[in-house]
Amino acid sequence: MISIQVKQLTKRFGKVVALQGLDLAINPGELFFLLGPSGCGKTTLLRSLAGFFIPEEGQIFFGEEDVTRLEPHKRNTGMMFQSYALWPHLSVAENVAFGLEERKVPRPEINRRVAEALASVRMETYAGRKPNQLSGGQQQRVALARALVVRPRCLLLDEPLSNLDAKLRLEMRTEIRRVCKEFKLTTVYVTHDQKEALSIADRMAVLDGGRILQVGTPREVYTRPTRKIVANFIGETDFLPGKIRQITADRVTVETEVGTFDGMLGDPAAVTSVGKEVTLSIRPECWNLGSAAGKTVNQLRGHIGEAVYLGEVAQYEFITGNGTKLKIHERNPRYLDGAQRGELCATVAPEDVVVLLE
Ligand code: ATP
Repeated sequence: MISIQVKQLTKRFGKVVALQGLDLAINPGELFFLLGPSGCGKTTLLRSLAGFFIPEEGQIFFGEEDVTRLEPHKRNTGMMFQSYALWPHLSVAENVAFGLEERKVPRPEINRRVAEALASVRMETYAGRKPNQLSGGQQQRVALARALVVRPRCLLLDEPLSNLDAKLRLEMRTEIRRVCKEFKLTTVYVTHDQKEALSIADRMAVLDGGRILQVGTPREVYTRPTRKIVANFIGETDFLPGKIRQITADRVTVETEVGTFDGMLGDPAAVTSVGKEVTLSIRPECWNLGSAAGKTVNQLRGHIGEAVYLGEVAQYEFITGNGTKLKIHERNPRYLDGAQRGELCATVAPEDVVVLLE
């Protein structure tokens, strides 16, 4: 298992700065995701790790080794890309063996390693088939076996599941995690699919404009975003502007147009003061709806506007007295007839109110 360290990496394409002095440390054996809006630099970072792009500045270390300028085929990475097609004229086993033949590995060892790699992705019985005799998910498993067979130091995955339908994606993401952990592979995974990242990542980084905005476990990033842009990018949220009224050891009290809220700083290291303008981020599932109001803080009065029933959850538009609209999700929905119920009270725990400075 190796760590991956990226230090002050800058990559430019003409005038476009795709990566700007980016620092990142990935732990040995970690399944690490890169997320962020289109054009934020995810693929550039992954391809720099693979050696397809040489950065203008900065360094990349695999363990202790500086690989910044090492050629791609000498880095010993396993890769699986969305467009990483299998050779149509070769069988499954021949496709998997290809990388080993290139490396002039002796035939008996090739046979043994191909069998091992196919078994690890549960495709051993398909060794003789051609790619066009396989489903999309099976082809993806073969691509994964092909990445694993060279015994890579790390695995680099760029949208590996984006060609698959929803059900297969679910199945394959668990499979990818299983294989990464079984082979103890440090893995860097680029995706647009937040659920994919939230469900299987050990940690993730959110990028924007060639920089890293936040790194953390899925739970840290989702429940404690450090900036508005992260809160907005991962999951759904509503923002309420306000001003800080009081700061205590573990709470920040914020005055907004719709009421007073106790919350927690998204970035616990942030320095702030009473009177500062901030933004509250509250996720739709954090609200509790009821008819009785008993508190003076962390509650809103209003009524339900539009309601969408989705079975296990309902999505409401909650409209406060001054016309502010918020999203509220209710599990096991009870207030679908909210429009007839008149005024309701929505409450939220201070732990679920994230106070953001930027
Ligand atoms: P997406 O989610 O859309 O795949 P991304 O986060 O992977 O985006 P990159 O492909 O890394 O983004 O691109 C980062 C920036 O660098 C973008 O502004 C892109 O237009 C630019 N860029 C990437 N590759 C090249 C290239 N070969 N030539 C010129 N500009 C490029």
